[in-house]
Amino acid sequence: MNKQKYYQPERETMPREEMAALQNELFLKQLRRVYDNVPYYRSKMEEKGVTPEDIHSLEDIRKLPFLSKADLRDAYPYGLLAKPLSECVRIQSTSGTTGKRVVAFYTQHDVDLWEECCARAITAAGGTEEDVCQVCYGYGLFTGGPGLHGGSHKVGCLTLPMSSGNTERQIQFMMDLGATILCCTPSYAAYLGEALAEAGYKPEDNRLKAGIFGAEPWTEEMRRDIQRSLGIKAYDIYGLTETSGPGVAFECPEQKGMHINEDHFYPEIIDPDTGEVLPEGAQGELVFTALDKEAFPLIRYRTRDICTLSREKCSCGRTLIRMSKPRGRSDDMLIIRGVNVFPSQIETVLMEQGYSSNYLIIVDRVNNTDTFDINVEMLPDQFSDTVRAITDREQKLTDALRTMLGITAKVHLVPPKSIQRSEGKAVRLIDKRKLL
Ligand code: ADP
Ligand code: ZN
Repeated sequence: MNKQKYYQPERETMPREEMAALQNELFLKQLRRVYDNVPYYRSKMEEKGVTPEDIHSLEDIRKLPFLSKADLRDAYPYGLLAKPLSECVRIQSTSGTTGKRVVAFYTQHDVDLWEECCARAITAAGGTEEDVCQVCYGYGLFTGGPGLHGGSHKVGCLTLPMSSGNTERQIQFMMDLGATILCCTPSYAAYLGEALAEAGYKPEDNRLKAGIFGAEPWTEEMRRDIQRSLGIKAYDIYGLTETSGPGVAFECPEQKGMHINEDHFYPEIIDPDTGEVLPEGAQGELVFTALDKEAFPLIRYRTRDICTLSREKCSCGRTLIRMSKPRGRSDDMLIIRGVNVFPSQIETVLMEQGYSSNYLIIVDRVNNTDTFDINVEMLPDQFSDTVRAITDREQKLTDALRTMLGITAKVHLVPPKSIQRSEGKAVRLIDKRKLL
C-alpha cells in the first residue's frame, strides 16, 4: 500500500499559477452558490451594493463584505446553511473561548475534506500506517478530537481515541501500546511531559516520535520544552470550527510556519481596524474563504487571529502558502494601562528565564488604575531557595518582562504544581475588568 497516500503533491506542490487558477475557479462557483442559497449573506452583499456579477476573479474579493463571529451568533443556528439539513451529517461547535458557542455544519463531502486536511498534517509529521496515533484532544462537539481522529484513520494509523483527561490512563496506554504520534493541545503535552517524568520515565522511554499540537497559541520556547521533555519533534496545527476544525494549516518538518491548505481555504491578511487587505508579509488579522465546503461555506470570515503570510519557498517542496504562528487573537490582546500586551510575549520571557508554561495573568482595575499580576510557578529546585533568593528571582523576572512589554507587572513566584493544569485549552488569563 502507498505509505504516504495523504502526501498529495498534485495539490501540495502545485505551481503558483495553477493554484491561483484553481482557487479562482472554486471561488467564483462558491460565491454564486452562497449568493443563491444563503439569504443572510446575500443581504450582506446587497447592503454593500455588490452582486456576483461584480466579482470576476479573486482580485475582486475585496469588494465583498466580511463575516465575523457576531454574524454567526446573529444567524445562529441555521442562518448560514448553504445545503438542506437533510444533506448534512454532522454538527460541531466552537469551544466558546471568547463567548457564546457557535455551531458549524458538515455534509459528508465536508467531513472528508476536513479529515483529508488533518491527514496531510499527520503525514507531514511523518505519520504512516505503521504509526500508533494517540488522540487526546477532546472528543465531542469540540473539533480537535474528531478532526485528528478522522485524519489518523485516513492515514491508516492505529488510532487510540483517548479524548482528553485521565492523565494516568493516557500514560499507561501511551507506554503499553507504544504510541508514536501524540495529538493534543500544547499545554496538555507540556503537562504529559511533566507527569511522565514524575512517574519515573525518561524521554527516551516512550516510543513517541512526533506530536501534533494546536488549538491554542504556543511559543517557540514552549515547543523546545515539549520536544525535550517528550523526546519528540513537535508540530503545530491550526484551524477553527468555523472553517471546519484543525487542519486548515499544518507544519512540515521545517517548522517555519504552517502551510495553509489553500486549495480549500483562501487566506487574506487585513488591518483589523480598517479592514484593508495588507500586502504579503504584513502582520494583521487572518481572514478565510472556504473554497469548496458545501454546508457551511463562510466567505471572508474574520478569524481574529493575528499572524503574517509568506510565499517564500519552503525546502520541504510544498508550495502552499505559510502562516506564522498566531500570536493570539486580536481579542486576546490586553490593553493594560494603555499598553498592548499579548500573553504570548509573557510566555516567551518566562520560558527564556527557565520557567515552565504554568503561569496565570491576573488583570484588575483598582481606583481607576489597571493592576497587572503574574503568578509564575517555581521549579521544584527553586522552591527550597531562601526568601531572599526568591525575591531576587522575582525582581529579575519583573525586569525582563518590563524590557519586553514596556510596563511593569507584579510577579509572584508560587510553589510548584499550585497552578491548575489544563487538559484542553489552557486558561492563562483572568481579566477581572471584563467581569465587572
Ligand atoms: P474558540 O474560538 O471558541 O476557541 P475553536 O475551538 O474553534 O473555538 O478554536 C479556534 C481558535 O483556536 C482559533 O481561532 C485560534 O484562535 C485558536 N487556535 C487554533 N489552533 C491554533 C494554533 N496552532 N496556534 C494558535 N492558536 C490556535
Ligand atoms: Zn514546508
